[in-house]
Amino acid sequence: MAQFSPTFLDELISRTDLAAIIARHVELKPSGANLVGLCPFHHEKTPSFSVSVDKQMYYCFGCGKGGNAFRFLMEHDGYPFPEAVEFLAQKAGMPIPASYVKNPKEEARKKQGLDLLTKVAGVFARCLQSDEGKKASLYFTQRKLPATIIQRYQLGYAPAGYGFMKRCFGDEPKILQQLESIGVLVSNERGFADRFRERVMFPIRDKQGHVVGFGGRILGDGEPKYLNSPETDFYHKSNLLYGYSEHREFVRKHKMLVVVEGYMDVLAMAAYDLPYAVAPLGTAITEPQLQNILRLHEAPIFCFDGDRAGRQAAWRSIERMLPLLKTEHSPKFLYLPDGEDPDTLLQKEGKEAFEKRLNDDAKPMLETWLTGLKNIAGDGAEGRARMAKKADQMLLNMSDNYLRQAWQSEIEKISGVALQQQKRPQFTASARHQISPKLQQRLIVSPMKHDLFMAALLQKPKYFRSLPEDAFNFFIDTNPAYPIYTRAFSLAGVEETTELDIAAQLMREFPDNHNIARWVNLPLVEDDEFQMLLLDMHITYLDGLRGRSEGLTVIIRINEELKALRNQQHKLNNSLKNKKTL
Ligand SMILES: [Zn+2]
Repeated sequence: MAQFSPTFLDELISRTDLAAIIARHVELKPSGANLVGLCPFHHEKTPSFSVSVDKQMYYCFGCGKGGNAFRFLMEHDGYPFPEAVEFLAQKAGMPIPASYVKNPKEEARKKQGLDLLTKVAGVFARCLQSDEGKKASLYFTQRKLPATIIQRYQLGYAPAGYGFMKRCFGDEPKILQQLESIGVLVSNERGFADRFRERVMFPIRDKQGHVVGFGGRILGDGEPKYLNSPETDFYHKSNLLYGYSEHREFVRKHKMLVVVEGYMDVLAMAAYDLPYAVAPLGTAITEPQLQNILRLHEAPIFCFDGDRAGRQAAWRSIERMLPLLKTEHSPKFLYLPDGEDPDTLLQKEGKEAFEKRLNDDAKPMLETWLTGLKNIAGDGAEGRARMAKKADQMLLNMSDNYLRQAWQSEIEKISGVALQQQKRPQFTASARHQISPKLQQRLIVSPMKHDLFMAALLQKPKYFRSLPEDAFNFFIDTNPAYPIYTRAFSLAGVEETTELDIAAQLMREFPDNHNIARWVNLPLVEDDEFQMLLLDMHITYLDGLRGRSEGLTVIIRINEELKALRNQQHKLNNSLKNKKTL
């Protein structure tokens, strides 16, 4: 993929008002040098989400999400990077540089595909309203879907027989191939044929709201009951959720999200003024889908039919969710009465009773898991042993240590069996670098100090100019900040940098490193504090160097430097003390 030039991206960031982008979703209030608000990425009651207006970066001290405007649009609004850039460029009134050739052919083909998908959705929708679509309209009437819902979700109809697509789009080979590439035609030895026939059609949208594929339900008794688009460049069923783009804003605002099994459940809930459901696309729920769900809302309610198949589906969801689960998540599970789904229940008992069910009957995931384990394991001492063994295996997949311990202690209480819990492999930075413990101890300054040091440098890049020459060695390569520090150091050395440049450039070069955004959002490091830190780090470094040095003259020189630094440290300390007492 072609790349935007760094100058263009820097210019774009400097012309972007990050606070305004974020304020569309979060109420921000000034606090110190920054703005703060409730984090849009995790649920919280007191604000830990900070926006540095100065550096155009945000960071959440609760969940660790952070970055610049591109990152926010990507992580929060689901834009791919190029689209995030285009969105901001348009807002800032900056034309996309001509040098940005993102494979124009490929882009044009993609855009054509998306346009065609939109047209096909329109054609199905119009067919539903025509005479040909009477039977399908009747189906929706019987299912109690009002016209407003049919319009809003652009429901449609693909008529019986072959040739509908050709009737709508002509039979030029080029257009037929395009229709095949978006999954609405299939080719066989006799040519192209309509994939969807005599089906009511549900357009499926991606996160940005583009139609990317369709689900089709047969009218009458044919097989299969549901037929979906095949995998195409646009349609990836394991990543998409029905209702996601339609309901995202409502879910964020009203903090309510229900995961149901089918399209009709999503629509029935919307018809009863509960527009906060999503559904997987006719298959068991996948890990990427669960991730999207937990990112959208930390406490989704998963609804399942209470029959055997429903319970198995719930169990699979639990298994897939374990690796993703964090302490801030609190998913719940709701079993509906045997043979019922949200659609049938809403028609039987109405909105209020259904909402009451959601609120009163949904059980926390832990409880659902424990009940499931009991059912699998059976009774007696053997049952309790089986229960512990199965739990032990499942808990290994949990990545959150605290949560795992909490769940473990619950299962031990119930089964009366202590879990073995094989040790999970630990990957630490120091395991990769073999340094003798003694040397390591001498080299490592408290990580807290390194952290503050980085914060000060990125907050006020002018500090780089006051660093001594040997400051390049202050960080050792086992410190997680090492690559960023050395890069920042060389950036500061070669370039006439403005205040914004270093942090922004680092953000671009280390897009996945959330520390950069965290450092700039930490409370401002004061000048005195920085001077103390600098002396401290310098002394620690020289101390370490002396230990590794041979040759008397070198050691004497280091000792002299150390003595001078300690003097400075002493003076600065005294003047700070005096300041405080004044
Ligand atoms: Zn957060």
